[in-house]
Amino acid sequence: MLEANWVLSQEGGGVISEKATYCRICEPLCGLIATVENGRLVDIRPDKDNPISKGFACPKGIGMISVHNSPDRLLHPMHRQPDGSFVRVSWDLALKDIGERLRTIIAEHGKDAIGVYFGNPTAFSYSAFTWVKGMTDALGSPHFYSSGSQDTNTRFVASKLFYGSPLTISVPDLHRTDFLFMLGANPVVSHGSMVSGTHVRDALNDIVARGGRVVVVDPRRTETARLYEHVAVKPDGDAWLLLALLHTVFAERLEDAHAMVDVAVGAETLKEWVEPFRPEDVQHRCGVPAAQIRSLARDLASADSAVCYGRVGACVGGFGTLVCFLLDTLNLVTGNLDRPGGAVFPTPPIDTNGFIVQQGLDTYATKKSRIGQLPEVMGSMPAAVMAEEIRTPGPGQLRAVVVLSGNPVLSVPAGHNLAEAMTELDLLISLDIGVNDTNRHADYILPATTFFERDDFPMAMLPFQLRSFMQWTEPVVAPAGEARQEWTVLRDICAEIDIVPSSSAAVRRLGRLGRRLGPRLIFDAMLRLGPYGDRFGLRRGGLSFKRLRKKYPHGVVLSETVGTGVLRDRITHDDHFIQLAPSELRQELDRLSAEADSDPQYPLRVFGRRELRSINSWMKNSPKLMAGGRGPTCCIHPDDADQLALHDGALARITSKAGWVEARIEVTDDVVPGSVCLPHGWGQRVDVAGNRSGVGGPDYNALTADGAAAVEPLAGMSILNGVRVRVEPIPVSR
Ligand code: SF4
Repeated sequence: MLEANWVLSQEGGGVISEKATYCRICEPLCGLIATVENGRLVDIRPDKDNPISKGFACPKGIGMISVHNSPDRLLHPMHRQPDGSFVRVSWDLALKDIGERLRTIIAEHGKDAIGVYFGNPTAFSYSAFTWVKGMTDALGSPHFYSSGSQDTNTRFVASKLFYGSPLTISVPDLHRTDFLFMLGANPVVSHGSMVSGTHVRDALNDIVARGGRVVVVDPRRTETARLYEHVAVKPDGDAWLLLALLHTVFAERLEDAHAMVDVAVGAETLKEWVEPFRPEDVQHRCGVPAAQIRSLARDLASADSAVCYGRVGACVGGFGTLVCFLLDTLNLVTGNLDRPGGAVFPTPPIDTNGFIVQQGLDTYATKKSRIGQLPEVMGSMPAAVMAEEIRTPGPGQLRAVVVLSGNPVLSVPAGHNLAEAMTELDLLISLDIGVNDTNRHADYILPATTFFERDDFPMAMLPFQLRSFMQWTEPVVAPAGEARQEWTVLRDICAEIDIVPSSSAAVRRLGRLGRRLGPRLIFDAMLRLGPYGDRFGLRRGGLSFKRLRKKYPHGVVLSETVGTGVLRDRITHDDHFIQLAPSELRQELDRLSAEADSDPQYPLRVFGRRELRSINSWMKNSPKLMAGGRGPTCCIHPDDADQLALHDGALARITSKAGWVEARIEVTDDVVPGSVCLPHGWGQRVDVAGNRSGVGGPDYNALTADGAAAVEPLAGMSILNGVRVRVEPIPVSR
């Protein structure tokens, strides 16, 4: 067991120390031990004393050291020249020029001409996330974009319609359930998404060991599906399958009527609406035989406990909100909502929901995007309309963008359109650890810290924890070069334009009086006043960040299980009942029913896959992580390959209405007939040093369409899965 900062050796003038910290790449937040020698990070290993991860860390977490110490790491502010090259500038000069240019934009066009985009890593930094939202609110700008409209927003909208709040999101009670029914999730590779707790694979094995079942619904026999039961569904066929399951539950009177009556309204209407979705009538749409659907419905309803859980694959099809809504509905009607072994609602040790409400993030459709009139989701607008927002003249036109740890050119549909539009901005600023396909267009790239160089606690993951857990980490090394923490850079940019970055009007007023609060002070106070806090000395043994660091450097488990009986408090509709038949559901059912079954010009449907050794659009530049991977192949079923005269390793062109990519073919019966599968996040044309080579690969987003007409209408979510394509061999002579 280490102290927070344990000095191992001071021989020969050198200082070697080991420090407990944790990984901030994905939800498990695995504990790590960082070895630091003379101020340099020299080794990372899993922390066996972390009470949650207990010595586990995946290759990405360990491999993060190569990203941190990469010779290509951006260490100084860089200013783009007219010829596209970058030259080093001082922070002072960069901030002064940024300030002047922002002030000019504000004077000519108003503060709402300035927007932000933040990528997934921002959600893992308590300070950066809070400050970027605060900056947008202080500007009063609607231009708040994030990777959420590529992976999560349909989930939030479904919760808003179902419970009344986008913040009411359940997690699957993996440690107690008898039946896990999982859509579009591959936790053996992802380690869990919107559910936080390591050793997910052990948790799934334990379900089977105690006589339960794990059923994986996916168009691909994923790494998870191989280990358990696989239900092969067509890409974007999930809504049809879930509706047929619900139909069966109601038709065979398998529902838990008491559970519904107690907390929900609209059950009779819902029954009418799902009546047409007989398994025998929809099996050709979802690809799952009617007998199997009926059997699954009976098993789900009769299990001692069961939980339906869906993640990214379930969120990013053409009917993502509908799918998420139906998952919650199945949990409710089978009597598995808010009960041990079902779908449960963690209570965080810090009132994160209260904080999010205070930040104005619990909203839906309180305003519409200028382009396409699409609803905001928790304050954010669809990233798929950013290019049009930049290019369409008129009041509110987007003229300056600050990108935080993001690479939207490789993350949003038709990223090449966004890349071109970004060149038309008056100002593009990026805070990042390296050069990427987005910020190579930036006027300034400002060097940000890696997570080893900043303090943190797992703020965004607290509502998704299977075991309530807190850890506070100090930076384990000082920032390399001139890198700075993102929140301090945002603070300094805001100071240049005389605004205080906070979502709270009171804090902004205090700031204008010269009293500026830092993130550590704010969240330490929230912890100390929360259920486990020390109440500023009034409660012996209570927590503060200082006590966490000193007494629990490896973190502390606060509760072993998620409490139940909280559902009533989580329903925020005016009548305090779950709404089972909102008009938006009717609208989506009509849209689903009207969707064409096939398109002869584009007979296949493409869907994405997650990879073990990279995440989204980053880490692909790490040779260590990429070594041994199969690369970004295009998986296709042998029947389709035969028909198209394609063989393993052949080069093929995949074409949709929006664009095309080329990829090597991998013939495999892991994918369902009628589909092709490509990983997401490839297509880099620059490497981290900004050279034009990059690691390349097929840019999945070239197949997907941007613009208001191309998104899922309730959430403005980019439609990434189920896009119709055709595949053609490319002649060898080319
Ligand atoms: S699973 Fe891997 S990437 Fe995710 S937190 Fe753990 S070590 Fe980091």
